[in-house]
Amino acid sequence: MTAKIYYEDPHIGTFDATVLSCEKDKDAYALILDRTAFFPEEGGQCCDRGTIDGCEVLHVSIKNGVITHTVDTPFVPGSTVHGELDLKLRFDNEQQHSGEHILSGLAHSLYGCTNVGFRLAPDYTTLDFDRPLSAEQLLDLEKRANEVVYRDLPVKCSFPSAEELAVLDYRSKIELSGDVRIVEIPGVDICACCAPHVDSTGLIGMIKIIKHEAWKGGVRLTILCGKRALMYFGKALSTLDSLTKLCSAGPDALPEAVNALLQKSLKAEADKNKAETLLLEHLLKSGIEKLQKEPASADEDRDKAPLILFTSAMDTRNIRNAINSVASGHAGILAVFAEQDGSMNFIASSTSGGLKAITDTLRKELGAKCGGNDTMIQGTVSASKEDILRCFGA
Ligand SMILES: [Zn+2]
Repeated sequence: MTAKIYYEDPHIGTFDATVLSCEKDKDAYALILDRTAFFPEEGGQCCDRGTIDGCEVLHVSIKNGVITHTVDTPFVPGSTVHGELDLKLRFDNEQQHSGEHILSGLAHSLYGCTNVGFRLAPDYTTLDFDRPLSAEQLLDLEKRANEVVYRDLPVKCSFPSAEELAVLDYRSKIELSGDVRIVEIPGVDICACCAPHVDSTGLIGMIKIIKHEAWKGGVRLTILCGKRALMYFGKALSTLDSLTKLCSAGPDALPEAVNALLQKSLKAEADKNKAETLLLEHLLKSGIEKLQKEPASADEDRDKAPLILFTSAMDTRNIRNAINSVASGHAGILAVFAEQDGSMNFIASSTSGGLKAITDTLRKELGAKCGGNDTMIQGTVSASKEDILRCFGA
């Protein structure tokens, strides 16, 4: 088992150790030392980072008490090495993890919640409770957690004896065996935990719940503590500043200003759809009238002649609505081709059928992508107007 310096001296930044083994593992090396200050990825918390003899430590893991450092350089067994921790990252992790203990301890004592999940990622922390909490309860929880920070209570870490543990009421009791490390924030939380923590709650800084969502019958919270919370609010304020400038409204008036813009945009969209549909209806009706006025030859039936319109880009829903509203006035094919990004979206309708054969021709001769039935088809094609008219026999 690797000697864990982070328990003897939780804030040590440098240490010397002896290399026990260093074996190639895929593209890297698995380095095992007799002692280390690097906390491994364990209990939902990401590992420490830093260097060993100037080489970056890529990952740190633990198995059966043996800690493995993943490095990209081989080390000689028996040699002495010098480790240096990224203490900024360590402190960041400590702020998040200690903040999580406060929230979990309070949620347990106030609302009977059990923490059933914890993940301390490089940029966020999530914790899962086994029962739901209302928005009011979460606000209360956050307020009380921050009051624990203001009181600057000590965070005590210890390894009680089996007898002491037997009578101690602490969280995570059933999940652990062997040496159990207890982390206590007096009057707030007692929990079994293997990770490094801040020395006192004042070092955590702000505890902020930034998101809550339903999770397996309970609730998942995403939280930020300390410097992460500060950075988040800096970014959020910058976004807010941009929005207030864009909307020419103060922060408090933003929801109203954005809603007004949204309503205006929805009305403009509705007006455009109405105008497009009316225009197409007019063009189709005029085309039908013109067809019917043309003198028919002996073998032609003007009522069944195809009417094909070409337009600029239009919403396919508007094309469909316009065709449907005039379809009963013409027994032949009605089709609208609307240009869109170099190709044409189209819809064709025919109350007397015949579109299945047209679909086959469009696919075969022009590579059109289309589908539908014998009386209505929709699709896309890249072809000249002449070629399209030819496929419709127009
Ligand atoms: Zn913990």
